[in-house]
Amino acid sequence: MNFELVQKGNWSYYRAPELEAAGIVHGFFTRASPLLASYGRDGKAFLDAFALQRFVVMDQEHGDAIHLIRDGERAIHGDGIIMIERNAAGIVKTADCLPIIIADAGSPMAGIVHAGWRGTVRKITLKAVQKMMELGAARENLIVLMGPSIGSCCYEVKEDVYSIFDNRGFSGKVFRRSGDAVYLDIREANRELLLREGITGIYDVNLCTYCSGGLFVSYRRGERSSRQINFVSIKG
Ligand SMILES: [Zn+2]
Repeated sequence: MNFELVQKGNWSYYRAPELEAAGIVHGFFTRASPLLASYGRDGKAFLDAFALQRFVVMDQEHGDAIHLIRDGERAIHGDGIIMIERNAAGIVKTADCLPIIIADAGSPMAGIVHAGWRGTVRKITLKAVQKMMELGAARENLIVLMGPSIGSCCYEVKEDVYSIFDNRGFSGKVFRRSGDAVYLDIREANRELLLREGITGIYDVNLCTYCSGGLFVSYRRGERSSRQINFVSIKG
C-alpha cells in the first residue's frame, strides 16, 4: 500500500489511495493543516472539504484511553478513537508523536491513536487493535498506517526511557545507540507490538517530523503551540 501527498486548497496531507478507495477516508496533514481551534471557519471548511458531518477531537493526555464512537458520542479526554459511525472524523493532533490509523474496511471500522513514547509504552495501539477485534474486526483484514512522527534519526532520549521500555518487554531493536546517545524508534516499538499480536498489514509513511525540511510541525524544534491534525472516517 503506497502513500501520496495530496494538495487540497491551502492544505496538504498524506493518504493511502488504496484505503480511501475501500471507503476509509483519512489523512495525515502536514503543517498546512486545518486548525479546528474552534468549530469555526476551518472546522467547517474541513468538514465540507471531505463531505463529513462532524468530527470528534479529544484533549490528549499521553495515556491509553480509547473511545468508541457509534452514534453521536463525544470524547473529551483520551488518545484513541474507534469509529463505527459514518461520515464523522476521528482526529488526533500531533507534533512529533506518532499518529496511527487502523482500519478494517470490510466491517467497516476505523481507529486512530496518538502514540508518543508514553502512549506507546502503555500499548495504546495494541489496545485499540484488540478492542476493534472484540467489536468484530478481522485480524487478517486490519490495515495499519503509521503517519509522520519524529524518527529514530532525531529522537534522542534519556536512559530512563530505555529502562521503561525494557521493563515493559520491548526489544532492544526499538533503540539505536550512537556514542553516548540513545535514540528511540517509536515506529519500530509500535510495529513490534502489532507483529506480536499477529497484525502484519503495517504501512509506514516513514517521514520524520523533525528533519523533513520544515514540512511538519515539530515540538522538539521548538514549536510548542501548534499541531497538525490526522483523521480517519468511514464513508457513508
Ligand atoms: Zn529525523
